[in-house]
Amino acid sequence: MAMIEKVLIANRGEIALRVIRTCDALGVATVAVYSDEDRNSLHVKKAGEAHHIGAAAPTSSYLNQDSVMAAVAASGADAVHPGYGFLSENSDFAARCEREGVKFIGPGSDSMSLCGDKMKCKAAMDKAGVPTVPGSAGLVKDADEAAETAGKIGYPVLLKSVYGGGGRGIRLCHDEAELRGHYDSVTGESMAAFGKSAILVEKFLEKIRHIEFQLACDTRGNAAHIFERECSIQRRNQKLIEMTPSPVVDHETRERIGDLAARAAKAVGYTNLGTAEFLRLDDGTFYFIEINARLQVEHPVTELVSGMDLVKMQLDIANGEALPFEPGSIRPNGSAIECRINAEDTFMDFAPSTGPVPHVEVPAGPGVRCDTYLYPGCSVSSYYDSLMAKLCTWGRDTPEATRRMLAALASFEIQGVETSIPLYRTILRSDEFARGDLSTDFLSRYGMLDRLKADIAADKEAAAEAALAAAAMRHAHGTGGAAGAAYTITIDGRERRVRVISADSRGMDFALDNTHHRVTYVPGDALETRMILDGLQISAFRHTGLDEIVYKNSGRSEASGGGSLKSQIPGKVVSVAVSEGDEVAEGDTICALEAMKMQVGVKAHKAGTVSALRVKVGDTVAKGAVIAEIA
Ligand code: ADP
Ligand code: ADP
Ligand code: MG
Repeated sequence: MAMIEKVLIANRGEIALRVIRTCDALGVATVAVYSDEDRNSLHVKKAGEAHHIGAAAPTSSYLNQDSVMAAVAASGADAVHPGYGFLSENSDFAARCEREGVKFIGPGSDSMSLCGDKMKCKAAMDKAGVPTVPGSAGLVKDADEAAETAGKIGYPVLLKSVYGGGGRGIRLCHDEAELRGHYDSVTGESMAAFGKSAILVEKFLEKIRHIEFQLACDTRGNAAHIFERECSIQRRNQKLIEMTPSPVVDHETRERIGDLAARAAKAVGYTNLGTAEFLRLDDGTFYFIEINARLQVEHPVTELVSGMDLVKMQLDIANGEALPFEPGSIRPNGSAIECRINAEDTFMDFAPSTGPVPHVEVPAGPGVRCDTYLYPGCSVSSYYDSLMAKLCTWGRDTPEATRRMLAALASFEIQGVETSIPLYRTILRSDEFARGDLSTDFLSRYGMLDRLKADIAADKEAAAEAALAAAAMRHAHGTGGAAGAAYTITIDGRERRVRVISADSRGMDFALDNTHHRVTYVPGDALETRMILDGLQISAFRHTGLDEIVYKNSGRSEASGGGSLKSQIPGKVVSVAVSEGDEVAEGDTICALEAMKMQVGVKAHKAGTVSALRVKVGDTVAKGAVIAEIA
């Protein structure tokens, strides 16, 4: 069999870079593809060559099979790595690669097509003796049939698109009214993300953990697991934090469930890497939910405890090589955690946050790994996924990995967009996380958003003081004083001690009354000083007096003033829920926007009457555009 010499990566962002890195290490040539939006992206710069494949919208570029295959032909690539998302689980695309004589680095199109359909895959697993979540015996054809099936299974139920993924195309329904209300949005989200939809109904299980097994199957009939990953900390059914080992999986369980999953994968003719996902009840029962027929976002935690390069293993398997270990012979070394660093605003219902990123500083250090496409001056696009970075840490045990993660999160600076970093700091500091008391409803069960609010309020207090100190010193000493310098300053009549640890024109590390802070200045005008303090964006307005400066800490800038409801994100209007003249309460949904493949509700910022509606279905709105006037 001819060995792979040149790989085209049919993807973008951090996963495209991840694949390029392994190819570089193996001496395999790389080809990037890019849309109009990604001309200046890092994966384009780092690949051996790059081909333009179309306009920003994924359907015109990263999902456009003709464009991708034209780039394969033009570059002479002999293999395609699909990354995740986009075409990675599209069995038509895998089949087309097979037909056109290009190696698809992933499973064969037949087993992929089976895995891509949650319904068929569950049936196959049942047959192989793997317990699956109770649910409809087949697809439901419309809302009526869904309601009938749900009545039989018993509420609450989940409506799921069989082609779902990344938490899209899933809705929880407590009763029939809710089910009928959600039916169309499941269809809509699945169509937007995957171009097709077919719906099944599943029993909604409560207080569960998401635990999955990394599987590896070569083309010589060997199948094995490479441990589990616990991915219970989620929002909107999508993973936020993943770890291995799971706090509740011991050696016996790992081998038993892992082996069962590997045998089942083998039984359906699966090859290459894949993941079998399970839900685990408190009593220890595991129910299979789906196979992800690709590399997963959280694969680095498995790499950290196994010492294996999973992308290399994918290439080796595609080259016909045998698995590099005997099934059952390997043990996890230490513990690893991944935090998905998303561009999103936790308090806006996790709505995407997009735009230019003037400055970023990526964490590093012993046991720290960060896969990211960010660089100073890059931009987060509203056309694609919100995942900006996979921040991972390794430790000899989970507490060590946690401590390293907390330090890494604190030193990760991303300017310009809101991120999930503050939420992760709150979660990782919690007793529940330390105890390993995890479940898929972790955020709501333990009131994590309220705790985050409290943490931010406390942080803000400290941040405001630190900002004052930093800004005052900067004013008095130009660049903020030299390392080692110490001052006493008076803030609101109180004496505070400031010691500069290190400083340059971009920012400084300093101790305020012995508490360590890091501030980075954001370029701005003379009146408003903007900075990132301990990972939090703040701004201080300056009024110059004779011999003192008054800084007012304004916190996060407010969304909009007066009666205008403005969009916080760019997107396309997919539905409008109100008419002019309607009375609305604060928090009522005004319209839904589609951005980053998600549907996001725009909520009334105050109660009142909708005096003017400025958008209609199909409109594209820019960030800051007025959606409605509420009087
Ligand atoms: P996706 O294809 O989007 O990954 P999955 O079927 O894997 O969809 O489910 C994603 C998440 O949704 C799970 O990790 C879990 O949190 C939740 N979930 C899925 N099925 C159920 C269920 N039957 N009961 C409760 N939660 C579920
Ligand atoms: P799941 O949530 O289905 O178990 P993962 O957790 O591995 O699977 O997440 C994969 C999802 O992440 C894809 O479905 C995709 O929507 C999203 N994704 C993340 N980064 C990218 C990217 N660079 N390109 C495309 N999709 C991405
Ligand atoms: Mg899944």
